[in-house]
Amino acid sequence: MVIGAGIAGLFAARALTGHFRQVIVIDRDALPPDAAHRTGVPQGAHVHALFTRGLRTAEELLPGFADTLLQRGGQRIDVGADLAIHTPYGWGTRSASNLEVVGASRPLIEAVARERITLLPGVRLLDRHHVERLTGNKYRVQAVRARDLQLDSTIDLPTQLVVDASGRGSRLPAWLDTLGCPEPVPETVIDPQLGYATRLYRRSPTSDPGWRACYSLLNAPTTTRGAVIAPIEDQRWIVTLLGIGPDRPGRHDNDFLPFAASLATPEIARALQQATPLTHVATSRATANRRRHLDQVATLPANLFVLGDAACAFNPIYAQGMTVAMLTAQLLDTCLREPAGPASPAARYHRRLSKLIDAPWLLATAADQRFPLTQGPESSAARRLMANYLNRVLAAGTDDPRVQHAFLKVLTMIDSPAALAAPATLLRTLRHSVRTMPGSTGQIPGRQAPAPPSQP
Ligand SMILES: Cc1cc2nc3c(=O)[nH]c(=O)nc-3n(C[C@H](O)[C@H](O)[C@H](O)COP(=O)(O)OP(=O)(O)OC[C@H]3O[C@@H](n4cnc5c(N)ncnc54)[C@H](O)[C@@H]3O)c2cc1C
Repeated sequence: MVIGAGIAGLFAARALTGHFRQVIVIDRDALPPDAAHRTGVPQGAHVHALFTRGLRTAEELLPGFADTLLQRGGQRIDVGADLAIHTPYGWGTRSASNLEVVGASRPLIEAVARERITLLPGVRLLDRHHVERLTGNKYRVQAVRARDLQLDSTIDLPTQLVVDASGRGSRLPAWLDTLGCPEPVPETVIDPQLGYATRLYRRSPTSDPGWRACYSLLNAPTTTRGAVIAPIEDQRWIVTLLGIGPDRPGRHDNDFLPFAASLATPEIARALQQATPLTHVATSRATANRRRHLDQVATLPANLFVLGDAACAFNPIYAQGMTVAMLTAQLLDTCLREPAGPASPAARYHRRLSKLIDAPWLLATAADQRFPLTQGPESSAARRLMANYLNRVLAAGTDDPRVQHAFLKVLTMIDSPAALAAPATLLRTLRHSVRTMPGSTGQIPGRQAPAPPSQP
């Protein structure tokens, strides 16, 4: 029984088909037959970059996934060559890489996964059912109690195994409480007070801005406004504006262009002038980093597995959430394959989940902790060092393609942030820092003439 037919739930269903004859995926929404927005996934209105590691994982779990996205209008993007990244130090260098992503709307990504999952033998989607609680005891879940939203009646669905893939708003703590689990699940929340505002635009078929996607980075502590433009199906751009605290973009259509014009680079506003808005502004503030430390709870039901955002939700600007959701599904499969040991598969899974989450969590939170308005635990010296070093990597990436490539491998989750400490990258980054220190003969960071974004 899988609660939630979002990214984690769909890929969990795929993982479970190797172990169970019947897998039921329950969702409270009416699941659309095609790529349509739905209320259970409000974040679906915003840019959803499925970075390289996620795309490759999707391909491993559902071979042909990327091709289907492309056939439905998804746009192939080489992150090294096609994505222009503006940093406080200038434009990142651009060169061909093997770091591929497919630009597509979140509804399309989900629709392709949903179609593929429903073709698998034994998988059934049960939509318009809202899971209210789990029944059983602290050792084992016996059934999932769901309200049929059409009939307004409840049913108990008996189960051998339960996956909570109900996303950022998961009711897991309340469910565990009613099962009689004695301890609350410890949580860490680091909230950078980030806001999103998004509109879809029709791209001009004739004008070429010199990039296929453009990212004006937020950068702690001082660059508190940013934006992303990405190509998606049907000749459209998805344009998301980003801001921290009082710099959050407004919710009115009239706020959109002035905010774009206020960014550190004029590139975004310039591009929007060549495009036609298709939708009103959608906003989101559901952007805090929230991690549940399930590995630290002594008694959890042995057949309950928590996946995706229900286990750990990230500040979305780092575009890690869907990839981590897929990786948690893959980990579920691995843990169920392993021979039985003293610990239950769920206990093993939650221990390894914590290790899996460590790297993306560090990347998202170390930088976020440097924004002055961020709420949550104080940063440690090691995290501050890492965040400072990351800025030096960004600066070096503006004129050293090899450093930029190393950064992009971390951004696309092919490498963990620790890879940036590899001797070659470290040396090149430090060399760049020394060369550009004030008083040296090199350029001063932040004062470089920005390379035109079309430059390779
Ligand atoms: C503004 C924003 C932008 C983002 N951009 C990116 C990005 O660029 N790249 C990226 O990788 N990630 C991005 N993310 C993160 C990404 O959306 C999530 O990480 C991902 O969707 C997690 O998948 P999930 O299956 O865990 O949860 P979700 O996809 O949220 O799915 C949860 C599902 O559970 C269902 N549900 C919830 N409660 C119940 C219940 N009680 N009973 C029945 N059904 C229930 C919901 O209807 C929904 O279908 C972004 C997030 C936000 C907020």
